Amino acid sequence: MSILVYTETENNKLKKSAFEVASYAKAVADQLGEKVVALTFNAESTDALADYGVDKVLEVKNDKLSKFNADAYAETLKNAAQQEGSKVVIVSQSANAKYLAPLLAIDLEAAYASNVTDLPETDGGFSVKRTAFTNKAFNYTSLDTDVKIIGLSHNAFGLKDNKSELEKVAFDAKVSDDNFGINVESVDKNTDKVSIADAEIVVSGGRGLKGPENWEMIEELAEVLGAATACSKPVSDMGWRPHSEHVGQTGKPVAANLYIAVGISGAIQHLAGVSASKTKVVINNDDEAPFFKAADYGIVGDAFEVVPKLIEKLKEFKANNA
Ligand SMILES: Cc1cc2nc3c(=O)[nH]c(=O)nc-3n(C[C@H](O)[C@H](O)[C@H](O)COP(=O)(O)OP(=O)(O)OC[C@H]3O[C@@H](n4cnc5c(N)ncnc54)[C@H](O)[C@@H]3O)c2cc1C
Repeated sequence: MSILVYTETENNKLKKSAFEVASYAKAVADQLGEKVVALTFNAESTDALADYGVDKVLEVKNDKLSKFNADAYAETLKNAAQQEGSKVVIVSQSANAKYLAPLLAIDLEAAYASNVTDLPETDGGFSVKRTAFTNKAFNYTSLDTDVKIIGLSHNAFGLKDNKSELEKVAFDAKVSDDNFGINVESVDKNTDKVSIADAEIVVSGGRGLKGPENWEMIEELAEVLGAATACSKPVSDMGWRPHSEHVGQTGKPVAANLYIAVGISGAIQHLAGVSASKTKVVINNDDEAPFFKAADYGIVGDAFEVVPKLIEKLKEFKANNA
C-alpha cells in the first residue's frame, strides 16, 4: 500500500509545490505505516524527491503529455493509483490540480477534499481540516470512501527535509486519443514575477516603509534574490500594495526557505501566516519589535539605509560568483 503524490513541473523542473505535497505525503505515510510513491510527467530530474521522503517515483516520459491535460493526467494518475494500490492520493491546489482532482475522483470513485491545511485525523476514521469562506473559517470533513484524494493548500504544510532511498521506475501512462478532447495550445504568462506560492524566497514590507513610493527598493531586493514580494495587512488595506501580496492569518500563508521582513512589527496575526518559513530575517529600527523574538537573524536599523546596502552587497556577490 502507498500514498500517491502528483508532483507538478514547470519547464520540466519540479516545482516547490511538488516538494510540499511530497513532504505532506511522507507525514501521512508515517501516520498510516505506508510508503510514498510520486508520479512525475516529463521531469528532467527527480533526484530531489529523495530529500522529501519519497520512496519510489513513477517517471512518465511521453511527448503527448508535455503540456498539462486534465483528462490525460487524471487517467495516468488513476492507472498509477491502481497499480500501486494507493488509497490516498495527494495533489496541490494549483489551478491545474484543482481541474484534475475532480476528474480523478470520478475515475477512482474517491472522495476529494480541497483546501486541506493539516494532517488528517486517522484514529477510527479519516477526517481533514479545510479552509472555508476564503480563509475566514475552517471545517472538518470526513472522507468515507475507500480511496481518498486530498488537495493540500499552498504553503499550509511547508517543506520538511526527510532523506529517503529513492527508487526510480519508468511508468507507461496508458493514455488513449479519447483522453485528449481538450488541449491547451499555449500558455502565455502576463508576468515573469515569482508567485508567493512558488517562491523559495519572499521579501515582505510593512508600514515601516512609510508609503508606496518606497517599494522600489523592496522590488529591487526581490529581483536580486529571485524572490516574490509580499506585505503586511495594513499595507494592502491602505492600497500601497495589491491585496494579492497580503500575507498572514487573513492573507496568504508563506512557507518559504527565506522570509525577509522589512519594517514589519511582527504582530501575532502576521506571524501566524509566515512562521512556517525556514529562515526569517527581520529588518526593523526598533530593537523591541516583537518580530525579533521569532527571527533567526535580525538587523536593528533603518530600512532605508540597510536595504540599499544589502542590495549592493548581493549584487557584488553575484558579480563575483557569476
Ligand atoms: C483579525 C485580524 C487579522 C489580521 N490579519 C493580519 C494578517 O493576515 N497579516 C498582517 O500582516 N496583519 C494582520 N493583522 C494586523 C496586525 O495585527 C498588525 O496590525 C499588522 O501586522 C501591523 O503591520 P505592520 O507591521 O506593517 O505595521 P506596524 O505595526 O505599524 O509596524 C511597523 C514596523 O516598522 C518599524 N519601522 C518604522 N520605521 C522603520 C524604518 N525606517 N526602518 C525599519 N523599520 C521601521 C516599526 O518599528 C514597526 O515595528 C490582523 C489584525 C486582526 C485584528
